[in-house]
Amino acid sequence: MVFFIFCTSLAVAEQSSSACDKDTPKYVFLFVGDGMGLAQLELADEYARLSGMERIFINDFDNCAVTRTSSANSFITDSAASATAFACGVKTKNGCLGVDADGGRHDSSAVAALKSGRKVGIITTVTMNHATPAGFYAHNKKRSNYYEIALDMLDSNFNYFAGEGIASADDKKSPAYRGDIYSLLEKNGYKVCQDEDSFNELEAGTDKAVVSYKSGLSIDRRGKGGGISLADVTRKAIELLDSDKGFFLMVEGGKIDFMCHINDAASALWEIFDFDKAVKVALDFMKEHKEDTLIVVTADHETGGFVLGSGDGFSSLTKIGSDKSDYSAQILNLGKQKCSQPEFAKRLAEIKKDKGQDFSFDDAKVLMEECFGMKFSSAEKPGPMSISAADEKLLKDCFDKYFKPQNENSNRFQIYVSRMMAHKAGLSFSTTGHSALPAITWAKGVGADKFYGRIENTDISKILKNLLK
Ligand SMILES: [Zn+2]
Repeated sequence: MVFFIFCTSLAVAEQSSSACDKDTPKYVFLFVGDGMGLAQLELADEYARLSGMERIFINDFDNCAVTRTSSANSFITDSAASATAFACGVKTKNGCLGVDADGGRHDSSAVAALKSGRKVGIITTVTMNHATPAGFYAHNKKRSNYYEIALDMLDSNFNYFAGEGIASADDKKSPAYRGDIYSLLEKNGYKVCQDEDSFNELEAGTDKAVVSYKSGLSIDRRGKGGGISLADVTRKAIELLDSDKGFFLMVEGGKIDFMCHINDAASALWEIFDFDKAVKVALDFMKEHKEDTLIVVTADHETGGFVLGSGDGFSSLTKIGSDKSDYSAQILNLGKQKCSQPEFAKRLAEIKKDKGQDFSFDDAKVLMEECFGMKFSSAEKPGPMSISAADEKLLKDCFDKYFKPQNENSNRFQIYVSRMMAHKAGLSFSTTGHSALPAITWAKGVGADKFYGRIENTDISKILKNLLK
């Protein structure tokens, strides 16, 4: 094992020379949980175990590799540099897509798959030209050049795109403006679906399709029927892409990251459950195509500096040692959260607008009780969700400082409430950004044995490109 850990690049070279037909998967799935660190995944598995739900399928995979995520210019990567690394196999600067640190263009494993005759699908819960999906088809020094990046979708020749729309799809201010991206896609032979009916009508045999769907947040969709989930677009991808030469499908759970940025543990948890359901679709497909399928699940980086423990207080704003350190995680308390933090923020803003000058912390308290199951009433016997007088004061101070004034753009109060919620479940976040914690890459099926030891994120692309030859 020690040998493997210190000889990663040698191991990758050996893998390329030993690749032979029986090692060549016809069907390749690459799942990317954006911001999904090991702690997030472990939380999901433990929550599932405690609540009697089906266990996380990802944890059933045969192989895994500790995966370094640092970019060319930063120990802590962003999603663009990371996507470039695991899609194209090169380290680049944060913010860059499909180009190396000197601006040289590099093609992704998806392009390699297309060249091999396989069909290609790129699907996500966020916009189709966001960093992770774009890493597979775009070349741009700036991830925020959304319009230009979307133009690269047209040139990709990929068969299937799905996501929560296309950012800046009709950006007339872009120097590269050539028209609305959806219309351009249609002109390029893509069938464009922007509602549930046309999505459902998409049939096998459609060579090129783009699906824009409202994925929303899983926690807010719970118990409501209808809508399109990541598992649905994954199932549709298989239907559309299955062909003689096979396919390459990238599936991103993009909002795990968004929810960890705002330190909303419960919402991240439900995003992971949805992501895992999409993985299950691939696992079911694998049962029928055992000899031909590889499923890889990875993360681009960890988000939130998330920790499964919260002994010393619920945020950096509290004094170290103010709480007694203990080992009692109460993660089922996350189940008391009824909606996402963005939904809570929306409702809070509506109340603020309605009440005007009369709006106060008491209004926020009522909503916190409703949305997060927190108990503020000091008359009641303290329970697991009781907010102590000291913690209530911290929340009120934060509310007065960041929410009550005309500081509409600040979401610090909402984040503070979510940190309190995490604390109530025995969890904690240390940042609203990413961390440099290595990701875990899981693999199952043909070629899965190539993923072991400690690897660089660039090795994911190198291994896949070798396998796709
Ligand atoms: Zn992020």
